Amino acid sequence: MPDFKYVVVGAGMMGTAAARHLSAQVDGVALIGPAEPLDRKSHNGVFSSHYDEARITRGFDGDPVWAALAKRSIGRYGEIEARSGIRFYHEAGCLFAGNGDGLGGAYVSRAMAASDALGLEIEVLDAAGLADRFGMFALPGDNQGWFERRNAGYVNPRALVKAQCAIAESQGAKLIRETVIRIEDTADGVEIVTQEGQRFTSEKVIVAAGGFTNMAELLPSQVDMAATGRTIAFFELNEEKQRAFEGMPSTIVLAENADDIVYILPPVLYPDGKVYLKIGGESEKGRLETLDEAVRWFHSDGTASEVAFLVKRAVELMPELGGCPVTSGSCVASITRTGYPYIGYTQSSNIAVLTGGNFVSAKSSDEIGRLGAVLLLDGQLTEEDFAGEVAPVFV
Ligand SMILES: Cc1cc2nc3c(=O)[nH]c(=O)nc-3n(C[C@H](O)[C@H](O)[C@H](O)COP(=O)(O)OP(=O)(O)OC[C@H]3O[C@@H](n4cnc5c(N)ncnc54)[C@H](O)[C@@H]3O)c2cc1C
Repeated sequence: MPDFKYVVVGAGMMGTAAARHLSAQVDGVALIGPAEPLDRKSHNGVFSSHYDEARITRGFDGDPVWAALAKRSIGRYGEIEARSGIRFYHEAGCLFAGNGDGLGGAYVSRAMAASDALGLEIEVLDAAGLADRFGMFALPGDNQGWFERRNAGYVNPRALVKAQCAIAESQGAKLIRETVIRIEDTADGVEIVTQEGQRFTSEKVIVAAGGFTNMAELLPSQVDMAATGRTIAFFELNEEKQRAFEGMPSTIVLAENADDIVYILPPVLYPDGKVYLKIGGESEKGRLETLDEAVRWFHSDGTASEVAFLVKRAVELMPELGGCPVTSGSCVASITRTGYPYIGYTQSSNIAVLTGGNFVSAKSSDEIGRLGAVLLLDGQLTEEDFAGEVAPVFV
């Protein structure tokens, strides 16, 4: 008999959520994945895309599927906080700003339609309204704003993962802090071998290894997904600067060209005791193919030219940032062929995959994890659960 009924590989945002939803329904669930490394610069194993204190959350989205995934997740934040006793959600609101032209304008039209369909409350602001309400920004005079005040803001991804883990464990899931190097479907169940030298068996396995999904022998064949390095810049705010940014929402500044879009998190207290305002962009396209390449990337502080672009853009948009000390960091976005997460079985009917965050899944990770759990429990997803959209594509 296999050791477990269901094993989730990867204790990140999607994996911990899947483990919570599975262990709410059945016994025999294990979650296998390492904790965050204590020293990032000397760690040579797998990393994760959630080692940070803030990720934007919002229902407003140019794609109805992503909007629905977010809405379903956000609706459960309160329950997860209450059950775990861990706070991770901050309702700071989320503002989109832009001039309504080009790609940004098309995005907003679609997002307004999706918001209407889902019953989201979006306040539309003209340039004067924007300047009046959000004085920390110096936006161009032709910009408008689309502001989601409720059920939007940011989540602390580390805290959300901790909360999901705590509930999953309290429901009986076994948390194994090891890294998987090989998964194979055998006559005795699915075999899972760890770098630490252990071997487990399970009736079914779901692989939720984020950007590292293709970087070990985890799936019968690789998913068609690019693990893309992304750079983030942090502005350290002293007390005076923090006051200048009081009441700031999570913000996305749209552009006519996708490469010029930036997202900005309001001031957040970090574990080093300092308060940082974070900005990132979407222009980086480089693919990380191997574990070595990914490790080197995570050891770096991102790409210097991207840091320069982000700093320039940040100071243009928020002149109060001028003179604040700047640091930078690296992260990985997992971009799928379809633009949606991959949630489905592989060539093996006992090995499923749950990955493809596409740079927007922190906020929706609870629903994406739930869909992974439904897949294992019911054997398939229905159209209501976006079976068609989330079907994985293999190389
Ligand atoms: C810079 C940046 C900014 C972002 N901003 C936002 C945002 O504002 N809003 C938003 O919603 N989303 C945002 N995202 C996206 C979000 O963080 C990701 O979509 C989300 O983390 C993906 O969850 P995941 O579970 O797929 O991957 P992860 O959270 O990375 O989890 C994968 C887990 O798998 C584990 N793992 C890997 N390999 C193995 C192995 N071989 N064996 C065992 N375990 C393994 C890792 O340890 C990790 O814990 C951002 C991402 C980045 C990089």
